[in-house]
Amino acid sequence: MIEIKDVRKTFGILAVLKGINLDVNKGELLCLIGASGSGKSTLLQCINGLEPIQGGEIIVDGISVHDPKTNINMLRRKLGIVFQQYNAFPHLTALENVALAPRVVAKRGRKEARALAQKHLDHVGLGNKADSLPSQMSGGQQQRLAIARALAMEPSYMLFDEVTSALDPELVGEVLETMRLLKSEGMTMVVVTHDINFARESADRVAFLHQGEVCEIGTAEEVIDNPQKEQTQKFLRREK
Ligand code: ADP
Ligand code: MG
Repeated sequence: MIEIKDVRKTFGILAVLKGINLDVNKGELLCLIGASGSGKSTLLQCINGLEPIQGGEIIVDGISVHDPKTNINMLRRKLGIVFQQYNAFPHLTALENVALAPRVVAKRGRKEARALAQKHLDHVGLGNKADSLPSQMSGGQQQRLAIARALAMEPSYMLFDEVTSALDPELVGEVLETMRLLKSEGMTMVVVTHDINFARESADRVAFLHQGEVCEIGTAEEVIDNPQKEQTQKFLRREK
């Protein structure tokens, strides 16, 4: 599991995370919602060890992310991350994109890495796009490619940061469908999203972040349908 304990994060004098406490349980889909600037992306970056923290602790499967003794590259393999903007290598085919990290990072053989890549492309419904370049794929396909790339490292956790926000509306569904598939297979997921409907339908729990704090957390029914805090209510009135 992921344990986030009193995590504080500042950029210069700006306090961005002000004592975050949050657990993500095995097999759970936790949605993070909140206004732009509330600290959602920063929190994901801290979980992944991409950003240092100034207080508290984040523990992934018993390993303290920010402990200098932690092998951060080993730890990061446990955490797949997918961002809003597509980040595939443009000169590599879909298959080569997915095979790259298993080859270079996990030191798999060429054939093995390609077989693994094909398996993960099939998994996200891109089996027939193996030889396509990212530029020959739609935005929705590129985001599914990004998911396949993350899955190829066989992570225990998947972190998603607004992965549908840059997509044309008609392409959002296929990406959400892929995320639901992962959840149904038992993947543990932290999903930052503006898609309140997705959160309501798919999240086991929803956390509402407000100005660097977890303002409200609970089931979707509790947080989205019956928010107790005024800040949550205000936010949801704007989003819905
Ligand atoms: P969200 O993802 O919820 O929109 P962010 O985590 O991106 O919020 O940002 C939280 C706050 O931290 C914002 O005020 C943002 O301007 C600031 N911030 C984010 N990244 C940096 C950075 N690298 N340097 C300075 N300030 C940053
Ligand atoms: Mg963000």
